[in-house]
Amino acid sequence: MTFAKNSKRSADFARRATVATSSQRRPGRPRLVKQVNQRQVFDAVLELGSVSRAHLTRLTGISMPTASKTVARLLKLGLIEECGIVAPDGKGRPSRVYRTARGKSQVIGIAIEPHRCRVVRAGIDGQYDASAVISFPTPSTYSNLIDKTVAATQAFMTGQAKTLRIGISVPGNVDAAARLCLMAPNLHILDGRRPGFDIQNALGIETDIVHETLATCLAERSHGDARGVLNFVMIGTYEGFGMSAIVNGELLTGSHGLAGELGHTIVQADGELCGCGNRGCLETLATDLAFTRLVNRTAGVTLNISEICDAVRNKRLDATAELHTTLDYLATGIAAAINIFDPEIVALCSKMLDVTPGAFAHLKVRIIAKALRPMAQRCHVIRVEGDTLHGAVAAAIHHIVESLGPRMNWGG
Ligand SMILES: [Zn+2]
Repeated sequence: MTFAKNSKRSADFARRATVATSSQRRPGRPRLVKQVNQRQVFDAVLELGSVSRAHLTRLTGISMPTASKTVARLLKLGLIEECGIVAPDGKGRPSRVYRTARGKSQVIGIAIEPHRCRVVRAGIDGQYDASAVISFPTPSTYSNLIDKTVAATQAFMTGQAKTLRIGISVPGNVDAAARLCLMAPNLHILDGRRPGFDIQNALGIETDIVHETLATCLAERSHGDARGVLNFVMIGTYEGFGMSAIVNGELLTGSHGLAGELGHTIVQADGELCGCGNRGCLETLATDLAFTRLVNRTAGVTLNISEICDAVRNKRLDATAELHTTLDYLATGIAAAINIFDPEIVALCSKMLDVTPGAFAHLKVRIIAKALRPMAQRCHVIRVEGDTLHGAVAAAIHHIVESLGPRMNWGG
């Protein structure tokens, strides 16, 4: 068994923690120090997978007695568990090793999508058994949706593990504080509804509801390409134009949890009517749905995006002009995100990039042409699958971590 002592992540963590610990511990703020310590210790366990108590003190700069108390609190909260004992490096005693809890605590992830819903339980490390996922077609009424979701969740609450939190991903704009789905353009049964609130009432477990793009952003940060990346933008273009951003390591939320609605920037005067009520939003021009609509209108057909991909591949349809028009608007949106956030990575979920083999390369050229050069040339634009169920789980864990205490303002 190895405990990642020598990993680069371990060294990076220690460097940042030393800077932060010395600057954030101030006399007269004992509760804050306690919160900062528990957040720091849990972040270390989460980031490194498993870590000994002796190594924790070296990493974080926290004294051994304080580390012991902090570990005891996290054990009591059910967030970590003991997983072994490691021999001392030289002199000294063997040290207990901890990892994120798997057996005695769990979170539940619920991914609500226009055509299907999925529910799963996961450990506090965010891992779950994909074969255990409960999946069902999205019901046509809101009350059935809640009933079926609650029943599926209850099926995961019968074991010994205590459910700490439930994360819910929805395809719509969310007021996180009110757990309210303001508008779901492709699943109107959620419009003005409070699924987070209703599921919490039925089960008595705290819930977090997030837009599906935010869910996939959190999933990429915890398990994907954005792990450890301080400035990261996630853009999803399947039906709506969703954007979420991690800025200097913090999730961008805005005053009401609604930040990132780049898709409702008007880019075409008197354009197509958007779900928000305005006309010519990026959302009406730069998405898979916009591309599909354009192709169908031009070619006089009624195909979905997969059928368009097949028709183009089999040379039954030439959609190059429509694809380039849509990608040009998408490049405008991504260039705006790059100019605003100066991210290291922009991750993109988009099916229209499968229409032709050169679509993604074409998009990247257009982004370089539209964004400010110094930022665009250093920003990596990548494609990701965008797993909303992983994202729902990651949302629950994100809120558990946030509730422990403030994150260190890492030194870089
Ligand atoms: Zn709009």
